[in-house]
This record gives sequence, C-alpha cells and structure tokens, in this order.
Amino acid sequence: VMRSKYKVVIIGGGIVGTATAFYLAKSGLNDVVVIEKEYLSSGSTGRCGGGIRQQWSEKSNVRLAIRSVKHFKEFQKEVGFDIEYFQGGYLLLAYTDEEVSLFEKNTKMQREEGLDVLMLSAKETAKRFPLIDLKGIKAAAYCPSDGHANPHLTTFAYAHAAKAMGVDFSTHTTALRILTQNERITGVVTDRGKIEAEIVVNAAGGYSREVGAMAGIDLPTESYKHQIFVTEPLEHMLDPLVISFENNFYIRQTKSGNFIMGQGSKDELPGHNIEPTWTFISEMAKKMPGIFPFLRNVRVLRHWAGLYNMSPDARPIIDRSKDLENFFYAVGFSGHGFMLAPAVGEAVAEWIIYGEPRSADLSDLSLERFEHGITKERNVV
Ligand code: FAD
Repeated sequence: VMRSKYKVVIIGGGIVGTATAFYLAKSGLNDVVVIEKEYLSSGSTGRCGGGIRQQWSEKSNVRLAIRSVKHFKEFQKEVGFDIEYFQGGYLLLAYTDEEVSLFEKNTKMQREEGLDVLMLSAKETAKRFPLIDLKGIKAAAYCPSDGHANPHLTTFAYAHAAKAMGVDFSTHTTALRILTQNERITGVVTDRGKIEAEIVVNAAGGYSREVGAMAGIDLPTESYKHQIFVTEPLEHMLDPLVISFENNFYIRQTKSGNFIMGQGSKDELPGHNIEPTWTFISEMAKKMPGIFPFLRNVRVLRHWAGLYNMSPDARPIIDRSKDLENFFYAVGFSGHGFMLAPAVGEAVAEWIIYGEPRSADLSDLSLERFEHGITKERNVV
C-alpha cells in the first residue's frame, strides 16, 4: 500500500522504523508510510540475538536501555502482542583484572542511574549458575532485569499495531533518491514511484550511509558483518544471556529452548557482505562447550550473518539534520539497536510531533559530536 503523498516517510522496516511508526501513530500522527526494500525485519533486526541489556559503559546507552526495558515490560499491554520477552538477566563474565575494574566502574555508574546491577565474586557466580564452567573467571556483573525477546515478533508487533492505527507499509519498495529544495526534503523517489513527504526518517540500518547520501548528508557510519547461529532446542537451563569480552562470545536460550550464540567479528572490512563462514562455526564449536558443557552434543540448526552499523564511537546517531531540517536519522546502533529501539522510536516520534524529544535526552547522540574529530575510542562494552 502506498499513496503518492505522506506527512512522514520512514525508510527502513526494521525495529527502529517500525517502532518509530508505532509511536507516531500512537500520538495521533498516522499519515505515515514505512518503505522497506525487502520484507519487514529482513535487515539486521531479523538477524540479531534479541538481547536486551541495560549494563553499558555509556550513560546515554544505560538511560535509553532502561527506558526501553520499561516499554518491553509493558509491551503486551502497550502494543498488544506476545514477543517472548524474558527477564532472565545478563551475566558479564570478567576473566581479567582489567575487566574486573571496568565492570566495577560501570556497575557503580549504572547503580547511580537506578539499575539493579550487582558485582558477583567468582564463587557467588558459580553458586548461582552451576551449569556453566566458570574456570578462570575473576568476577561477574549481573543485572537480573536485563533479558531478551524475539526480534521478529517485536518488529511485526509494532508494524501490526501501527497498521491498525492507519500507518501504511510498503515492502519490496526501495528508496532510490531523496528530493530536496531550498534546504528541505520534498519527497522520496522509490522503484515504485515518487512520494511527496514533509518529513523523512532514515532508519535504514546497515544502509544508513547510503540513504544519508541520497539527501547529500554524509553520515559517518560503516557496516560490519557479524555471525550468529542457533542450535536445536534443549530443555530450559540458561536464564541469563551470558557474555565474555575476553573469550569473545555471547549466548542465550530462547523460549523454545534453542541456544543462540555469536561473537564479535574480527578483521572484517566494512561493507555489506553477510556471507557466513566455516571459520566462525569451527571457532565457536571449539570454545563454547568448554564453558557450557551441556552444548557438547548439540546440533547447529542454522547459521547466518547480519550487519552491525557502526558510528566512529560505536554509539548511535539519533538526530535531526542541521542542513535539512525535515530529515531525521536513527542509525549506527552497532550491536544494540534492538534493545534501544522502543526508547528511540518513542523519542524520534516526539521530536517529529512536538519539535523535541521528551522522554529521552538525545543531545550527546547528535551528528555534530564528530565535527571536532573523534575523541573517543570505539567502546562496545
Ligand atoms: P535494520 O533492521 O537493518 O532495518 C533497516 C531496514 O532498512 C532493512 O530491513 C533494509 O532492508 C531497509 N533498507 C535499507 N536501505 C533501504 C532503501 N534504500 N530503501 C528501502 N529500505 C531500505 N541488537 C540488540 O539490541 N541485541 C542483540 O542481541 C543484538 N545482536 C545482534 C546480532 C547480530 C548477528 C547482528 C548482525 C546484530 C545484532 N544486534 C543486536 C544489532 C541489531 O540487530 C541492530 O542494531 C538493529 O536491528 C538495527 O535496527 P534497524 O531497524 O536500524 O536496522
């Protein structure tokens, strides 16, 4: 479904685009179309781990994630669908002294932000999680209100609810060009025709830079391949999503019992290649059963990859363009766009409707922060 004129055109039918559409419609603005070049959740969202973590080293991430968890907790009531949301916690294992001091510093800040996060000694961790082989750990950070949800169901839920409120969705529709006149966007040209628009939102995930360029805006984002796989289901035995930076993995168990796991990519060049590799499976097969002995004989069902869209400091860019004032972007979410999306969609919708984000302070996620050079190292912790 697509008319030739809308107040708001959202480019990208992932979690960020659909959440934004939902919050716009919820606040009464339903003259909105979401255009998606493939199908809903075909991008990073449908390929992600579904983890929802509030333990970040950056205050802005912590705040957005806490706000998102508030929405995830009320999702059934607010949006009307079951998304397999489960608050089983996140357990961050510290294997080195540097990790222990970093986690201590982070958890202190997070507690000041109101988060229910704890530092556990190695002994306490082993007692709480007897099925994990914790040989070599020094401590762990544990936040019981972290959790996970099904990213497909979450995207579809936002889309269905937005549709019911009058938003249009046009899948298999690619934005090709963004039309501008006198420092304003006037419309979007797609492979299915031209749409006049008063406001355009770039929620194009791994293609955020390409969509920015269509409007002449240079977004400093790059995409990197990340791989992940899912095993056959086993009985429920792992509540938290477990991460180790030192051993480079994360793992969680889905509601239906399957284990989903992945690692941070190494030595990848930026681009849009999402071909899975044998090396990944073999590395994971070597390291995971040592720490999770119950995985020793489990079979891998499916293995795939998706894109992390990275900004120079690994934090999202959520902003209204200073050059084209009716162009918004919510991009560069690295490995945490799913968990932040409820708060981001809500804040972007407020910005569009009221002229400013109200539920979140997005000031330090502006594009301008890169104008004076990049002062921060990428920090994905
Ligand atoms: P996307 O879901 O990529 O949506 C953008 C959409 O735009 C795509 O569907 C694309 O087809 C469409 N599009 C692009 N260009 C055009 C165009 N020109 N015209 C029309 N449509 C276009 N995040 C978490 O929070 N927790 C996790 O546990 C987690 N694990 C991850 C694991 C992996 C392996 C990967 C790859 C990512 C993971 N992430 C995780 C990150 C998360 O997936 C992303 O940050 C999030 O999905 C971004 O959502 P999005 O809506 O911005 O992007």
